[in-house]
Amino acid sequence: MATKLKMRPKVENPNDSVQFLKGIGPQKARALCKLGYETIDDLFYLFPRRYEDRTKLKKIKELTEGETATVKGKIVAAHARYFRGRGHFQIVLKDGTGVVGCTWFNQPYLKQVIKKDSEVFIYGKLGRFGRLQFQNPEYEIADAEDQSPYHSCRITPIYPLVSGLYQRGLRRSLWNLINDHLNRIEEYLPLQVLQDERLTDIKQAFKEIHFPTSHDCFKKAKNRLIFDEFFLFEIRLLKRLYEFKKTKSEFLFDSIEDVTQNFCQTLPFELTASQKKAIQEIKKDLRSRVPMTRLLQGDVGSGKTVVATSFFEASAECGFQAVFLAPTETLAEQHYRTILKHLSPHHRSQLVLLKGSLTEKEKERIRKSLNEGEYLLAVGTHALIQDSINFKNLAFVVIDEQHKFGVEQRSKLLRDSKNKPHVLLMTATPIPRTLAMTLYGDLDVSLINELPSNRKPIKTHWVLKKDEKKVFDSIRKRLAQGEQGYFVYPAIEESDKSSRTALESDFERIKTEFKEFGIAMVHGGMPTDERSKIMQEFMRGSIKALVATTVIEVGIDNPNATFVVIQGAEFFGLSQLHQIRGRVGRGELSSVCFLLGNPGTEEAKKSFQIMSQTQDGFLISEEDLKLRGPGDFLGTRQSGLPLFKLANLITDQKILERARYKAHQVIDSNPDLLGTEYEPLSKKIEQYDKFFGEA
Ligand code: ADP
Ligand code: MG
Repeated sequence: MATKLKMRPKVENPNDSVQFLKGIGPQKARALCKLGYETIDDLFYLFPRRYEDRTKLKKIKELTEGETATVKGKIVAAHARYFRGRGHFQIVLKDGTGVVGCTWFNQPYLKQVIKKDSEVFIYGKLGRFGRLQFQNPEYEIADAEDQSPYHSCRITPIYPLVSGLYQRGLRRSLWNLINDHLNRIEEYLPLQVLQDERLTDIKQAFKEIHFPTSHDCFKKAKNRLIFDEFFLFEIRLLKRLYEFKKTKSEFLFDSIEDVTQNFCQTLPFELTASQKKAIQEIKKDLRSRVPMTRLLQGDVGSGKTVVATSFFEASAECGFQAVFLAPTETLAEQHYRTILKHLSPHHRSQLVLLKGSLTEKEKERIRKSLNEGEYLLAVGTHALIQDSINFKNLAFVVIDEQHKFGVEQRSKLLRDSKNKPHVLLMTATPIPRTLAMTLYGDLDVSLINELPSNRKPIKTHWVLKKDEKKVFDSIRKRLAQGEQGYFVYPAIEESDKSSRTALESDFERIKTEFKEFGIAMVHGGMPTDERSKIMQEFMRGSIKALVATTVIEVGIDNPNATFVVIQGAEFFGLSQLHQIRGRVGRGELSSVCFLLGNPGTEEAKKSFQIMSQTQDGFLISEEDLKLRGPGDFLGTRQSGLPLFKLANLITDQKILERARYKAHQVIDSNPDLLGTEYEPLSKKIEQYDKFFGEA
């Protein structure tokens, strides 16, 4: 995983700077800074990228062509042939069993370092150039001052490099670090945790992760450091939660029982059992003084919005303010309309939509009214919270599609709101358990695990691009019956001219193909006003089909839409395909999804298969996580996933569970981490903020 550069405070004590380390001058220090390592303490976390097992010494007479081997011997001859800096350096090495040659190219300084009669370790690959010999091998002088060889004859660390750093030099620096500075490291895990989990102590762990003495010790060291990554993350999460729960919400929803009941009775449908259960759970939270932080998780189309809306009604009834945050303007508008429709008539005038496209003057007016408590209910995009709105008495916050929101962003929102509102986060991205534990470890969770009973399964077909004609025929029938749908294309970047042109020319093609029906195009690059006008016409039915980028991925709810064609489906991740497919199958009619494309990779083929086999969002997300790994899982940026250096959320699940369990034990018994025994841990957690970012 790439190391992210974060702003760090300048190193205060020059003795702490990496430059203080033997062998690191200003140039190397700069290169290390580039990798994110400024201080000596940072450098312990510059973990090897991989290791090479160079433990077994071979006898020279047993060497064979093509193998990679380590030998030790005495240099019996050394020749340098250089002309104007180019050329080669050759030695002949002898052990008790035979002789072998080594050649290095274009490194004239070597003749100063590798001298006749000295003992050396040589590690490298054997080729035959006339005779059998090592070419550009790694070397280490055996009788040098260093006690133990660190380049060869051991499990050798290979470090990540950037320009300005060389493997040998960096390895030597790390070797010096471990030998001279290990006593800087103080054990910070509580003794009980160390004992219960039988963890290697921290000094030993650093020693073994950099210069393993055996495979077994290495494994223990790695496990210890992985445990720490999870443990510190969880402690921090739980500690924050504890701080947050200490605060008292000013808002008690007294009359909530009747309000939500009345609200549900006015709905044109019966709520599903899990919708009802979610409403009960939220209600319970709202009757308590502890501010709610609840995640409402439910597959696409499972009806989360209506659950949230019932509490908008309740807020208004109690005279409290509530705000609904959506990831896009289009969705904000849709939610606004839905809420307006469901609110009882006397509360409708208290609802306002805050759009980015409003004039500054209008926005200012609305902000002022929210400050003064004139409007009680507001809908807007996530950007709304970045604007400085001081709500008069904000009691309830809904954040839709919360996965677009990082852990840090969320926690900032909760910490900074002066009113300590109750917060309901909603997500349609079903998160596998391990991810949920890290992303939502500080949240209570309500789950909607069923779709409304009127839903029909969506038939999903995988069609090769050359058979597109068949797909069009089937779609023409649907359009003729008055049904609607989507043609979806991979997202286009603002700057990406060629894919924009591709979208536009395909739009022309589809418009011609279905010229008797109204077809329109929407994409993220167009003005929001224009886009929302088209969306409204599509909702009303005057536009029959949309040629769209993934702007329609989240939330758009048109029950009359029954087909979706995903063009270039091989370019989408599984979860994304599932989200897009979820735009149809929302009404009484049966729907269909065509995955159109030429899957070149195994991954794409597997995705297509899974999509045609299941509609279970959780299953799909598990598979997606397996296929793509956690980093890519939620989209590359804004995923809000913590960056772990060693830990892997998929393969280290067991350690994560232990770490989380232990973190709970510690925080439950000593939430403020009081006592000298916990001082190092407290200190470590403070530093954590500096060292770990978000993906
Ligand atoms: P999502 O969970 O994806 O946000 P929505 O809240 O947009 O889902 O709901 C999808 C559609 O299902 C909406 O049109 C909504 O009115 C409808 N709906 C919600 N709950 C039910 C239900 N219990 N029975 C029938 N339709 C429902
Ligand atoms: Mg939704």
